[in-house]
Amino acid sequence: MKCGEDDEFEAGQLSRFGNIELSPSAGVLNYGQGIFEGTKAYRSENGGLFLFRPQENAIRMQIGAERMCMQSPSVHQFIHAVKQTALANRRWIPPPGIGSLYIRPLLIGSGPVLGLAPAAEYTFLVYASPVGNYFKEGTAPINLYVEDVFHRAGRGGAGGVKSITNYAPVLKAMRRAKDKGFSDVLYLDANNKKDIEEVSSSNVFMLKDNVISTPPTNGTILEGITRKSIMDIAQDLGYQVQERAIPIQELLGADEVFCTGTAVGVAPVGSITYKGNRVEYKMSTELGCLKLHSTLVGIQRGEIEDSRGWLVQIE
Ligand code: PMP
Repeated sequence: MKCGEDDEFEAGQLSRFGNIELSPSAGVLNYGQGIFEGTKAYRSENGGLFLFRPQENAIRMQIGAERMCMQSPSVHQFIHAVKQTALANRRWIPPPGIGSLYIRPLLIGSGPVLGLAPAAEYTFLVYASPVGNYFKEGTAPINLYVEDVFHRAGRGGAGGVKSITNYAPVLKAMRRAKDKGFSDVLYLDANNKKDIEEVSSSNVFMLKDNVISTPPTNGTILEGITRKSIMDIAQDLGYQVQERAIPIQELLGADEVFCTGTAVGVAPVGSITYKGNRVEYKMSTELGCLKLHSTLVGIQRGEIEDSRGWLVQIE
């Protein structure tokens, strides 16, 4: 669906996945006016189809659009488009435990613009793909490399929103780490180069002595929907939960470290390599993060009561 600079989005329509036409001077191609979301559709044990907290994605897109000077679809339009896309692709939503349908809402400045300015027209589209595990390790622990040359985001930048401009700068760091056998990169605060921020496409947590901590979302890291959900679940399970600055040295001494994200799920971290030193974390079937993961997945599959109303049934 499309909209002009000061209009509301017109109603959209379903179409087959295929190329879209854009002006070479579209705002997204020249000035990076693009933001996206990532959500999943799940099939429950009794066959129902569900979205997980889609209004959170809709609101995050609105906040991102405001930051990037873009028009945004309403919450209702966003959820309706995601629902329609999920239903049109329902045959790709696997039974529970096998995978899920990843849904990618994308908002771009599609109008032409030559001098630096916001585009005069915006396009909102949603596509989907079936997915399995995000990391090649599957559900096994991942190995993180702490990046101390490249940073993901600076204060006042766009790190706190899901802008396409945040992702190209991490590709080089990710490629270098993957070439050395690591699963992903952990970024540090660009100012003090000491506090942890997040991983390329997930948030990071540590557990020490029954306290679960994660860095605050101060505009440089993305406020993950999985992050928020895990903080609530952790409290329900009796953990103390803190949002606070975490120096890398403290993380290295944690009992457990784990990453959270829609695509990533809850991924236990097996090792972290910082300045050439590798720290390994003890693994067991009793890990706190595995309990958090099984509770989240249990809610998403309809096996555990959804007491907060996170699931939206679409069929
Ligand atoms: N940080 C970044 C940079 C991400 O791209 C993502 C994935 N959206 C996350 C964190 C996790 O966010 P969520 O739990 O909403 O998927």
